[in-house]
Amino acid sequence: MQQATEIAFLGLGTMGSPMAQNLVQAGFSVKGWNRTQRDRPLVEQADQKGVHVVPTIQEAVAEAQIVCICVSDVQDVKQVIFNDHGVINHAQPETILIDFSTIGPQAAEEIAENLQQFKLHFLDAPVSGGDIGAQNGTLTIMVGGEQADYEQSLPILAALGQNITHCGGVGSGQAVKLCNQVLCAIHMVALCEAMELAKRFNLDPNLMIQVCSTGAAGSWALSNLGAKIVAEDFAPGFMVNHILKDLRLVQACLADRGLPGIALADQTFKLVRDLGGGKQGTQAMIRAYRDIQS
Ligand code: NAP
Repeated sequence: MQQATEIAFLGLGTMGSPMAQNLVQAGFSVKGWNRTQRDRPLVEQADQKGVHVVPTIQEAVAEAQIVCICVSDVQDVKQVIFNDHGVINHAQPETILIDFSTIGPQAAEEIAENLQQFKLHFLDAPVSGGDIGAQNGTLTIMVGGEQADYEQSLPILAALGQNITHCGGVGSGQAVKLCNQVLCAIHMVALCEAMELAKRFNLDPNLMIQVCSTGAAGSWALSNLGAKIVAEDFAPGFMVNHILKDLRLVQACLADRGLPGIALADQTFKLVRDLGGGKQGTQAMIRAYRDIQS
């Protein structure tokens, strides 16, 4: 397609702010909106890097051909789209909404169906790769929705990520993303337990990380989050509250046929949240292990 000249980006948080900045970098004209505009360094940073930050959703979406959304949870995406000041009241017919938030397949299907009456199109496009991937434009993007909408959105997605896959109909991107989150959550259990074992052997934890990263046990978590655990750097990245949201979405899909590893990861992250770590990065899971042993 011709590059869309106007993009709206709603939600300029840890992920949304650098993603909007990368769209500007790629030559798109981007209007950004964030619910809270004061005391938000990431909103200010986006503004300084050429995202035209506006005070209302109306101003952001009125002339946009593509509306990108990256907010927290199911109800937040629904509010941004459907409430009195939301996207449906101001977007042009045939606009494509691309939602990068992790909200699960059921919510994505429901939103896409409701949008049909407003002649608005919907792609679920959850991402993986963390704040670093968002900053570097190297995200993995899992897309669900109509082929034509996907093709029209590809130039935008290509400015944000490196591995972009059309997984199938609406909701399929979210389904793959929930599998991704199960892998991430249970990997964190494995990482914390390897760190605890290294401690009991009196090993240098960095040596263990360095050696194991090169063999069959290597993983993104080990390479990127292992050193943060050693340094007790629990800053997010990806917050404990968000992985708990994702595990809630997974468990809702599994209903009464839950899986044991997911239950263990969920219970351990909840311990961290109860220790006050909800807004820390997922590597703060190690705090639960230390708490259990103290
Ligand atoms: P974040 O830093 O907490 O940002 C959340 C954003 O959502 C903020 O802009 C917040 O606005 C906005 N928001 C929340 N509720 C809202 C509402 N009801 N109405 C309007 N705006 C609302 O979160 P994030 O890390 O960017 O995550 C965003 C999404 O990406 C989540 O679904 C998360 O699971 C997913 N994700 C995150 C990562 C990661 O590594 N961080 C990786 C992959 C996927 P305010 O500033 O007003 O609070």
